[in-house]
Amino acid sequence: MNIRARYQQITGEVPGHVTLVVAAKTRTPQEIREVIAAGATDVGENYVQEALAMRESLGEEAEKVRWHMIGHLQYNKINKALRIFDVIQTVDSLDTARALDKRVDQAGRTIVPCYIEINIGNEDTKAGIKPEEHEPFEEYMVRMVRDMSALGHLRIEGLMTMGPRFGKAEDSRSYFKRIKHVFDLLNDLGTPRVDMKYLSMGMTNSYRVAIEEGSNMVRIGTGVFGERTG
Ligand SMILES: *Cc1c(COP(=O)(O)O)cnc(C)c1O
Repeated sequence: MNIRARYQQITGEVPGHVTLVVAAKTRTPQEIREVIAAGATDVGENYVQEALAMRESLGEEAEKVRWHMIGHLQYNKINKALRIFDVIQTVDSLDTARALDKRVDQAGRTIVPCYIEINIGNEDTKAGIKPEEHEPFEEYMVRMVRDMSALGHLRIEGLMTMGPRFGKAEDSRSYFKRIKHVFDLLNDLGTPRVDMKYLSMGMTNSYRVAIEEGSNMVRIGTGVFGERTG
């Protein structure tokens, strides 16, 4: 199957309220062109530099989609990131949020949609807030969201998680449930400048389970493009 067929198969399968973010890492501009031609609306990149190069090679085509930062955001890349990405999915501390907020004006923007990244499996190899380091976690997240809502240039629009990499998709279910619970809790707070619309969880191996547990945004690379060679 080609990229168009795979993209359309997945969008045909997921419910209409679920946004598919195409994960572009290691893919060529030609592959991204193909997926945009197939109807992709949202593209995720892991690195600022790669995203910049990709957007440059795509030229005007790049304007047809929303660009999501889904990799770890380094402080020294914040200025560039704010010029490249529509959405920053990987805010993983109040310090990062403050650093972003400070630079929004300079990037010529007024407000930037952000999601908070949670490392739900407490894995050392991954970025994101680890629940086990901040118990009771629900209270910690409520405080964090309230503190972040004071930052006038950010709008908190969701939570993002990778989910644990180990095991079968079914093994992620309890982690996904926990995140959905936190998501609902934060949504119910009604904090100004917080509009919890997106729960970004689920990748190729886990998106079906993630959607069953309340995800409304999945990030898929392999399922659309095939196995990574690079
Ligand atoms: C690579 C990646 C994905 C997609 O992974 P696949 O298994 O290829 O679908 C999703 N989210 C992030 C943050 C990634 O780095």
